[in-house]
Amino acid sequence: MVIVPKSQKRNTIISIVLTLIAFVLFVSVALFEELAELSMIIMIAGLVLLAASWAVYFMSGKTPPKEEAENVITVIACRSCGQVEERSFAQGDYIFKDMGQCKKCSGPSFIKSIYSVSPKKE
Ligand SMILES: [Zn+2]
Repeated sequence: MVIVPKSQKRNTIISIVLTLIAFVLFVSVALFEELAELSMIIMIAGLVLLAASWAVYFMSGKTPPKEEAENVITVIACRSCGQVEERSFAQGDYIFKDMGQCKKCSGPSFIKSIYSVSPKKE
């Protein structure tokens, strides 16, 4: 499942709206002679809006997706029967740590390895 961040969608809309407003300003300067005196101000305002819309657009594009926390797995193995169990990493886990009795045979178990899995991207 792909989750599209809502903020990105919103930024795209803001960008489009700003561009439209800038466009309307440029057109009204061209169409209405009454605005001739204000043309400089309106043109500058329009350019600022255009720049802002691009800034919003590019910023939203560059926003990196939230990185999911890496999933760290601890592998617990039994020295006697070879039973292997995996569970999520807990604080204080280290390789070769004594993990007490094996659930299967009550033999000594230990942390065989610790590894991280990158979250699956679908
Ligand atoms: Zn065992």
